[in-house]
Order: sequence, then structure tokens, then C-alpha cells
Amino acid sequence: MKTFKHFINGDFVSSSSGRQFENRCPVDGSLIGMVHEAGQAEVDAAVQAARAALDGPWGQMTQAQRIELLNKVADRINERFEEFLEAECRDTGKPRSLASHIDIPRGAANFKAFSETLANHPTESFKLDTPDGAGALNYGVRKPKGVIAVISPWNLPLLLMTWKVGPALACGNTVVVKPSEETPATTTLLGEVMQECGVPAGVYNVVHGFGPDSAGEFLTSHQEIDAITFTGETRTGEIIMQAAAVGLRDISMECGGKNPGIVFADCDMDKAIEGTMRSVFANCGQVCLGTERVYVERPIFDEFVKRLAETAAGLKLGRPEDPDANFGPLVSLEHRDKVLSYYRLAVEEGARVVLGGGVPDMGAELNEGAWIEPTIWTGLSDDARVVNEEIFGPCCHIRPFDREEEVIELANSTDYGLACAIWTENSARAVRVAEQMETGLVWVNSWFLRDLRTAFGGAKQSGIGREGGVHSLEFYTELKNVCIKL
Ligand code: NAD
Repeated sequence: MKTFKHFINGDFVSSSSGRQFENRCPVDGSLIGMVHEAGQAEVDAAVQAARAALDGPWGQMTQAQRIELLNKVADRINERFEEFLEAECRDTGKPRSLASHIDIPRGAANFKAFSETLANHPTESFKLDTPDGAGALNYGVRKPKGVIAVISPWNLPLLLMTWKVGPALACGNTVVVKPSEETPATTTLLGEVMQECGVPAGVYNVVHGFGPDSAGEFLTSHQEIDAITFTGETRTGEIIMQAAAVGLRDISMECGGKNPGIVFADCDMDKAIEGTMRSVFANCGQVCLGTERVYVERPIFDEFVKRLAETAAGLKLGRPEDPDANFGPLVSLEHRDKVLSYYRLAVEEGARVVLGGGVPDMGAELNEGAWIEPTIWTGLSDDARVVNEEIFGPCCHIRPFDREEEVIELANSTDYGLACAIWTENSARAVRVAEQMETGLVWVNSWFLRDLRTAFGGAKQSGIGREGGVHSLEFYTELKNVCIKL
């Protein structure tokens, strides 16, 4: 059985309180190990270590030296790929085929991409005329923002955590990470990699625990934290914003979604089915960018519903290591209870259940796991809770539409604004509709196709700020203007 300790000031440490909690595998409910829960003392120690590293060895390194170390970290993750893969799949239950293509390689890439961005991105300069004719020269300098708290979720644990830690460290900050209580493994393993690569003690710290009255709250309310970057539920984001308001600390928020997919009759049906299959069911529907509302133009509605249901019925549920499996369990029994409550609600609200709607029989070995059926509904009204609330499970509601203006209004009629997928072969329509979507991200004839140089983030209640490419520099650095009178 494993023990997951905090990683503070370059060492793995236990909780002084002795408090620990269980980490269970959602595949079969087996106990993976015990996780130490940080109290105020561990959070204080981690923040102090991060501050000391910022003022000490890390802060004194040149940018080139820091980048060299981060490149080493990326290489070392790839060398220990199998261990990261194993750890991520045990914690989340996701298929190895998925984690080996997305979670782990992108987790490693996050340490390289932002180093390059920082190294190659210029700052502004302006020559100012002055009454004496001599003028003044202004130029911008980027400085690290300081000690950054990173609060991450469980759905893509390594990928989403390094998506913040990579740019934070590239910009010269130090971090204290609080991974989700559901998925402590890869964040802990990264501590070993930091040690092996010679990243100075205190640059990367990890404290384990929960949110309220635990590591999450202690960290976000800590006044020595200069900025907080968060990915998780919108309601949690609101609480963290309130904590950040004390001391006027900066925030970056990547929150929930209720993303629409729009399928026009002029789409390439094969592409639309393949893309919607991924956007609804990948990672057992636990992707913030996932589609939970599908709008299909009426002439192809019946065919689309039939084909999506037939394809989804072919999803192969199985253990992560099963090479044929492409559909794992939800992350925990607790999350399954939440998703199942929406499955029941859909029926109460009058849905026609086209596919699924319950718990599959996985046999004696797996029945303690958090398995759930891929589910498709039609027939709900636009104000149904199932159509408006984020479920974060492998399910979608499909509704017909007749006119372009109608579907734009339907797609936008949500408090969220993260992502949208549009399926059409008419490029003028694609551009026109994309322009009107109230979301931070729009994909046309694709989904989750990510270029790390581009802006990522949500509109409305899906988030605040943008990360990715130069936009990460905006959050992770303080831009200082120097004005020299000539
Ligand atoms: P969550 O909000 O429950 O938890 C996220 C993190 O916040 C965890 O580490 C948790 O321990 C911590 N936390 C909870 N309460 C806290 C508090 N009071 N103070 C400080 N920290 C606290 O989210 P989750 O269930 O782990 O993840 C699923 C959610 O994340 C979904 O809503 C999904 O849409 C969203 N998400 C968004 C993006 C994005 O990029 N926009 C990406 C992935 C997931």
C-alpha cells in the first residue's frame, strides 16, 4: 500500500497532526494508499519554503538556467512515463490508451512549451517626446509574480496541474500545489522528478488535503501567497475569489461548463459523429470542454441520434490496462452518486432515454468500482435542470433545431461560457456562428484540438482570465514599466 506525503522544501514530509485519508481506485474500489492531510503547519512550511526559494536560488538563476532545468523535468517525466501512466490510471480509472496519448505527454510538454514562449516573447517599448526635446525611453520588464498557489481538479490531474506549474516556473515564480484529494499520485511523483533534476528545494511544493477547513482553504487564504490559479467547479471558484480578495491577490479561474455542440445538416456526418462521440464520452464525460447539449438541425436529427446511440453502444467498458477498453469508470462513487441523480432527474423531467441511464453490471471483480453507462436523452424542455446544470458525466441531451438564429440563442442560453463545437461544411456559416458564440473557445469540425500557444479560458461563469501562450505570461508575471529620461 502506498503513502502519499507532502513535498515541502525538497523533501517528502508527513502531517504533524498524523491525519490521513484513503485513496481508492475507482476501477474496483480497492485501496491504493493513504494520503497525509495538510494542516495549517504544513501549509505554512510550504509557503515559507516557496518564498525562500524565490528570494534565494531560484530567483537568482538566469532565465536560461531555469529553462534548462524545466526541459530536464519534461524529459524526466517522459523517461518515467510508465510510472506516471500507471499512477494516473490507478487514481482516475481512465483507459491507458487515453492517458498515454493525452495526460502524460501533454503533462510533460507543459514544461517545454512555456519556456519557449517566455524566451521568445518581446516586451513593449515606447519613445516619449518631452518639452526639453531630449525625450524619454519606456520599456517593459517582466518579473515573476511571486509565490503562486495552484489548486487543481481530478479529471486530468497531471495535465491540468502542469498547465499551471509549467508557465509559473518558467516565469520565475515558485509554487505550492494542492491537487485534488481524489488524485494525489502524479503530483506527488512530480516531486521526485524535481529532486532528480536538481530543481532547488522550495520551488515546487505539494500539500495534500481537501478544500474547506483543510489544505485548500489554508493555502488560498494564506497572506504570503501572491496569486491563486484555480481549475474546478464554478461554486468553488467563487469561494476562492472571496479568499483572494483579502490582500487583493490576483486570480486565474478555469471553471465549469455546459457546452453546446451544434450540428448543421450540411455537416460531414461521419466527422460529426466521431467528434461528438469524443466530446461527450471521452474520459467518461469528465472533461470541462465536453459537450452535454447537442443541437442537431431537424433534417438529420433522427439519423444523428440513431448513429450516435449505435456508436456509443459500442463503447467498450473495461480496466485501464485492457487494450480494447475505451471507456473507464467515473472518478469516485461519490461523483457517480451525483451523476446518477441527474440520470434519475432526466426521467422525472420527461426525457426519452435513448441509451443507458444506469449502472452496468461489470461482474464480481469490478462491481465495487464507479462504473456508469454512457447515456443519451432526447425530449427535454429547454428549462430542464438536466439541460442547464453541469453534470460532468458521460451523457448528453440532443434537441432538434430549425434555424441558425434559433440555435445560436439556444446555445448561448446558459450561465456558462467555456467551449462550443460546430459541425458544418459551410465555412461562411462556421465563421458567422463562431463569432456569435458566448464562449472562450470554439471548435469547428473538431474538438479539444489544442495549440498551446493559443488562449484558453472561459467566458461568463466558466472562468476569469486566459492562460496559454503569451496569455500565461500575463498572469504569471508582473509587467513593470521602466521610464528613462534621456
Ligand atoms: P472542485 O471545485 O470540487 O475541486 C477543485 C479543487 O479545489 C480541488 O483540489 C479541491 O480540493 C479544491 N477545493 C474545493 N473547495 C475548496 C475551497 N473552499 N478552498 C480551496 N480549495 C478548494 O472541482 P472538481 O470536482 O475537482 O473538478 C471538476 C470541475 O472542474 C468541473 O466543474 C469542471 O468543469 C471543472 N474543470 C474546469 C476546467 C477548465 O479548464 N475550465 C478544466 C477541468 C475541470
